[in-house]
Amino acid sequence: MRAFRFKRALLPTGWSDDVTVEIGDDGLIARVTPGGGPDGAERVAGIAIPGLPNLHCHAFQKGMAGLAERRGPGGDSFWTWREVMYRFLSRLTPDDVEAIAAYAYVEMLEVGFTLVGEFHYLHHDPQGRPYADIGEMAGRIAAASRATGIGLTLLPCLYTYGGFGNAAPNPGQIRFINATDRFVTLMSRSREIVGQLPGAVIGIAPHSLRAVSAEQLREAAAIFATGPVHIHAAEQTKEVDDCMAALGARPVQWLLDEMGIDQRWCLIHATHMTDDETARLARSGAVAGLCPLTEGSLGDGIFNGETYLATQGRFGIGTDSNIQIDAPAELRQLEYSQRLKARARNVMTASEGESTGRSLYTRALAGGAQALAQPMGALAPGNRADIVVLDADHPDLAGASGDMVLDVLVFSAGRGLIRTVIAAGQCVVSDGRHRAREEIAKRYREVVSRLARS
Ligand code: ZN
Repeated sequence: MRAFRFKRALLPTGWSDDVTVEIGDDGLIARVTPGGGPDGAERVAGIAIPGLPNLHCHAFQKGMAGLAERRGPGGDSFWTWREVMYRFLSRLTPDDVEAIAAYAYVEMLEVGFTLVGEFHYLHHDPQGRPYADIGEMAGRIAAASRATGIGLTLLPCLYTYGGFGNAAPNPGQIRFINATDRFVTLMSRSREIVGQLPGAVIGIAPHSLRAVSAEQLREAAAIFATGPVHIHAAEQTKEVDDCMAALGARPVQWLLDEMGIDQRWCLIHATHMTDDETARLARSGAVAGLCPLTEGSLGDGIFNGETYLATQGRFGIGTDSNIQIDAPAELRQLEYSQRLKARARNVMTASEGESTGRSLYTRALAGGAQALAQPMGALAPGNRADIVVLDADHPDLAGASGDMVLDVLVFSAGRGLIRTVIAAGQCVVSDGRHRAREEIAKRYREVVSRLARS
């Protein structure tokens, strides 16, 4: 049993002073005591808030950050970015993937993400053949999680077709491809791998309606009848148009009509929805997996936030392409995109007087925890001991109390407020730096320098 004592903490009942959190050997919170606590607790200077789940990540894409920011011959789009991404990943070895993932996870922990949902689709060798161990790449993701201490929900991706209408995959996609039977084998192996990692959870990730057939999606949801189901949906207007042509419905509409979307589901992006789709998705109990920095980077569009929140929709946030890994910046970008769209302020809040920082943060905690099927999102017994500690002496927090702390975190000081991060009871970040940053960054630099030269 370990115990940490904080000057102030955000508990399910609200802000409390002098809070002690006792943690069991399983990395879960055993007891929370406001106003003191047992002797012998390790004092941690600062304000404790729950660690955030990062519900959508393709770790390897961190290594190509900066490679696609140059204008091409015919103008650029999501689809030209995707070609750059395919060229980049065609050269990655399992060692490279592990090195890149480990560095991405170090950065996530340093900005307050304590658990990652890895939407994992780079499965096979560059010729599209499974490695001798079909779970080789899944094992590398698990190894990166173990090395850094970030929690993991692994979401192996089912990817069979190159586009709508069961189109054949293009050469850039061959490392992703499995038909359902081989995917079932991959899932069994991935389940073994995840089983060796304390607290890790597994779900499935049918990539999108363009990469799996309708029959396959029904089959996969039936075979894997429990656990999270994540799918990219309605990220791009071209995808919506192609879906209309192939399936006779918009992507979110089709999923709602055909798949019985419920709390197991997380629809990644869900950018292009009508008001009717938005309200129906909210009522389904599913989570919208928003990735505001990536959606901005890729020019996807703006989520229908006002309507979604008005109908009690649930959302979480993800770093997706990892172009920038920064939890407060994701929440800020989400709110600012809504402000620019609505030409209004404080949009992602439900009631008068509510703090926007608090609203964004607590909704992202709850939505992420649900989408990743993890006990987290509040400092309460039974949950993972995932704790982010903010620097109470930071000048930007002068005079701030209560929820204003979260407003300063999201809108002003940002990640600079984060000093200490505890994941599953282990102190992995101190003074803003991950304990293994140096060696993991060294390896990352070697890998990315070599890839840039080749
Ligand atoms: Zn994605």
